[in-house]
Amino acid sequence: MYYPDMSIYSYSNFDKKLKEMYNLGEEFVFLNIGWIDSSMEYEKAEKNEEFLKKMLILIKKSGNMMRGYHRCQYCLKDRMIGNEYDLICVKEGDSTITLGSREIYFQYGNFVFISPDLIYHYIENHSYKPPDLYYDAVMKSIV
Ligand SMILES: [Zn+2]
Repeated sequence: MYYPDMSIYSYSNFDKKLKEMYNLGEEFVFLNIGWIDSSMEYEKAEKNEEFLKKMLILIKKSGNMMRGYHRCQYCLKDRMIGNEYDLICVKEGDSTITLGSREIYFQYGNFVFISPDLIYHYIENHSYKPPDLYYDAVMKSIV
């Protein structure tokens, strides 16, 4: 599922749910971040551990559970995982967070950024570079 970074979100009704939940007006803009897939090139950068920590906080606190799991297309393509049923997990201390079934959001000013939770894995394992605006906002806002 590919959507360009900073394009208007349209994947599910998560934007409508968020609007209702937080009573957000028309001035809020819902944007896609991290909806990359193996059919398109994407910008790369070295991962930053502090940024990843903050992304994990976002994943744990915000989420829209979807039915089923998305697998990482890059891992499948490069055979880094054995088969299409292998799920992507993140270990944190004693717990394991399974990625691939959640949309996460991050609100900054009038922007609400929506990402697949696999964005964490894309950054950590496939050097995906989120847009500067998103990166800076997360670094500044998540403590
Ligand atoms: Zn992968």
